Amino acid sequence: MKLIGAHVSSSGGVENAPLNAAAIGANAFALFTKNQRQWVSAPLSEQSIRLFKENCIQHGFIPDSILPHDSYLINLGHPTSEGLGKSRAAFLDEMQRCELLGLNRLNFHPGSHLNEISLSECLRRVAESINMALDKTSGVCAVIENTAGQGSNVGFQFEHLAEIISQVEDKSRVGVCIDTCHSFAAGYDVRSGENDSDLFNNGEDTFGKVIEELDRIVGLKYLKGMHLNDAKKPLGSRVDRHETLGNGFIGKGTFIRIMRDARFNGIPLILETPEPEIWSQEIAWLRSFDGSTGE
Ligand SMILES: [Zn+2]
Ligand SMILES: [Zn+2]
Repeated sequence: MKLIGAHVSSSGGVENAPLNAAAIGANAFALFTKNQRQWVSAPLSEQSIRLFKENCIQHGFIPDSILPHDSYLINLGHPTSEGLGKSRAAFLDEMQRCELLGLNRLNFHPGSHLNEISLSECLRRVAESINMALDKTSGVCAVIENTAGQGSNVGFQFEHLAEIISQVEDKSRVGVCIDTCHSFAAGYDVRSGENDSDLFNNGEDTFGKVIEELDRIVGLKYLKGMHLNDAKKPLGSRVDRHETLGNGFIGKGTFIRIMRDARFNGIPLILETPEPEIWSQEIAWLRSFDGSTGE
């Protein structure tokens, strides 16, 4: 079964996120467990934790369907020891929040070299940061998201993700989240002709090739979630601008293909599209193509 949802608001408390997700017909969701634009937030209260778990059970959200996202301030590959220390402390706090909420994965953007250190040194720092957080927590998988490659962000090539994973000690607790918009912006042609004109992908199975490449370089066994976003900017733009499904440069066909492909069963498939008021329609539209049966 496909687990489909959106990155919903947790304003007023994390316990509201499952309610917001249920209200749009989702059976998966993403959330921030703290204010994503602040370094420090108050700890989760006992009551918030209890209500979050109760609301998840009541609305049928299993841990495998929930993909929390960390703060945008965190840079696990930071070039300075001060920036790195601050990021590592904040990331550990995010992992511990997930532990308290009974969640099994945390999605994050790997980091940026800020043009001060090499790409490989940045990736090494990211892996070391992951190892440190995994050492101090249990049960939560660190899920690295591929990026659009804006500025000095790393993680826009599948090879970057593979290099980080290769340096993580506990391979059972590391994974990846593939964002369709980021992949496309980074130059991976995820367009599919299935419901589009042949001109769109010149009759080639470009989407299939990207997934094959992901499998060969990273391994699909590491896929712990996806972000389903259309792209406002053309292929290889390196600019991260999400668009509503079917209204950007990627087009509907790709999302139909994902729904029909059993390799994407059982992981959270999350919308981060720019019009929350149509999320319920986007989810219903996606679900109408879910060809999977059983698990
Ligand atoms: Zn994303
Ligand atoms: Zn994005």
